[in-house]
Amino acid sequence: MPKTERWQWYVEEFSATEQHHHALEETYYSGKTPFQSVAVVRSATFGKMLILDGDTQSSQADERIYHETLVHPALAAASDRSSVLILGGGEGATLREVLRSPDVRSCTMVDIDGEVVALSKRYLPEWGAAAWDDARADVVIGDALAFLREREQTFGVIVSDLTEPLPDSPSHPLFNGNVFRDIKARLADGGVYVLQASTAGFHNMALHAKMARTLRGFFVHVRSFYTHVPAFDNDWAFLACSDRSDLAALDPATIDAYVAKLRGENYFYDAETHRRLFALPLYLRRELAKAGETF
Ligand code: SAM
Repeated sequence: MPKTERWQWYVEEFSATEQHHHALEETYYSGKTPFQSVAVVRSATFGKMLILDGDTQSSQADERIYHETLVHPALAAASDRSSVLILGGGEGATLREVLRSPDVRSCTMVDIDGEVVALSKRYLPEWGAAAWDDARADVVIGDALAFLREREQTFGVIVSDLTEPLPDSPSHPLFNGNVFRDIKARLADGGVYVLQASTAGFHNMALHAKMARTLRGFFVHVRSFYTHVPAFDNDWAFLACSDRSDLAALDPATIDAYVAKLRGENYFYDAETHRRLFALPLYLRRELAKAGETF
């Protein structure tokens, strides 16, 4: 029998003409919550994976690349990282990375989908690890939009680890100028807002550029950074926004001092990786410089 017929396949559709096929060794869970469809699978190449609405969220083999990139540049740059807010982040790995910093005294994580959180604790315990039981963690099950509007607390760092803002996704209402204004109001003076900000591949960077353009209306410094995430089969982009810190100009000594204090060892992020994350190719810089649509 041809090799491909030995496997069940999870087919991730990027567009009408592009797909990534993952050979599956096991499906742990497949179902629907009130907010999204959820699958927890084990792929032959990437190990366990969480898939929401057909989109890979993270994989066992490379989730540290994604989560260290999302969290550590922002925490390293923040003048005050004692209180952190995470929007989304259902698998718990963003919480895990934040709590590796001993300077963090409290971290509130707000995810809309209690079933994703429960499935992650059950099938992906390596992602959240001890963070779920850390006394500094406050896990709120609720809509991040309501949280931002109802609470008056401010945070030194806000990390947005929401799903892609596709029209039917529960994250869609969180990507527009009005909400970026609400997020800024929840940031302490000079704080850092960092978000996973869609793809940076030369063939699909328009959504990222639109996010960057919109955020430039609210923050003095808005920096794109990106890395390749193999399980996503793409270059993945992030945005760091602050009125005080320019993350692209963060000096290596500050990063080294921050990393040295983290509990446990990094897999991906250090001062040299930081330099690479913020060094953007010409085509992306050109796209970011263009005038165009905002949210
Ligand atoms: N790494 C990811 C990616 O590639 O898109 C994001 C990871 S994380 C699993 C995304 C989380 O955002 C999910 O757990 C989902 O439930 C949550 N989410 C979506 N919309 C939300 C909202 N309005 N409020 C709070 N959490 C939300």
